[in-house]
Amino acid sequence: MFNILIASPRGYCAWVDRAIGMLDDILDMYGAPIYVNHEIVHNKFIVNYFERKWAIFSDDLESIPTDSIMVFSAHGVAPSFVQAAKDKWLRTIDASCPLVIKVHNEAKKFIKEWYKIIYIGKKTHQEAIGVRDNDLENITVVGNKADVDSLSFDPGQKLALLNQTTLSVDDTKEVIAYALEKYPDIKLPGFSDICYATTNRQEAVKELVKEVEALIIVGSKNSSNSTKLALIGERASLPSLLIDSPDEIPEDFLKWIENVWISSGASVPDSLVQEVIKYLESLWGKFMKEIVTAEEKMIFPYKIKLS
Ligand code: SF4
Repeated sequence: MFNILIASPRGYCAWVDRAIGMLDDILDMYGAPIYVNHEIVHNKFIVNYFERKWAIFSDDLESIPTDSIMVFSAHGVAPSFVQAAKDKWLRTIDASCPLVIKVHNEAKKFIKEWYKIIYIGKKTHQEAIGVRDNDLENITVVGNKADVDSLSFDPGQKLALLNQTTLSVDDTKEVIAYALEKYPDIKLPGFSDICYATTNRQEAVKELVKEVEALIIVGSKNSSNSTKLALIGERASLPSLLIDSPDEIPEDFLKWIENVWISSGASVPDSLVQEVIKYLESLWGKFMKEIVTAEEKMIFPYKIKLS
């Protein structure tokens, strides 16, 4: 018997769903082209879908005609970019996730109170770039313990610690604990900066990772929360794939396997997961079961209003 086990929650979080809905509605209301800084969300399929509707993903403000409409992506946006867009007289709408905006606000508050900030994240990720832009001098991005080792602050310097919303929960806990050993007085935010969607999807994947023989995560390689799901499998020495579509499953990947565990990142439409399931069913017939570890029922309405 071949078992296809599917994690829930998986796929779109409520804020990704909202950002995608906003861009779709703006294209319908105002017509193409609509510009988007960066990718609206980190998913190849979604980006291709919008490119076919003539959304233009570009951070190059120079090349964008004055008076165009620009949507700021779900990852949040650097304050200097918002200002530059204003200076260019672009009409804008912000599809940033409020949980990312919360971290921007925490950073601003700490900076105002003369803290320096250690921000755990990936230096090149759009979200980290955006948060750091609040104060390039006083926000330092660290990715791991070695980066914490290399920090040196003047004695008595007030320090605060923030992090990217889509990191590995376990790795982040470790880096925070390590930073606290070095700087016991470091101030932490009241609530974890790792978002509920990232936490829930990681908890769901952990649920069966020790009881299956393979893990398939549907998601794009540049999606932070998707890569962190695949990492859970790799760390459990489980053959693990991170794929955008079923044609990326190597032929021999599922040899000798009876139970395959499937999930997807927060920017992945469920239709892509269903394609993978369909493909697996076409190989082995079906026994499919969804394992629910948490309920997510939020829907966030929006109004299209340009600034
Ligand atoms: S994954 Fe988390 S941070 Fe990213 S849009 Fe969803 S809720 Fe917001």
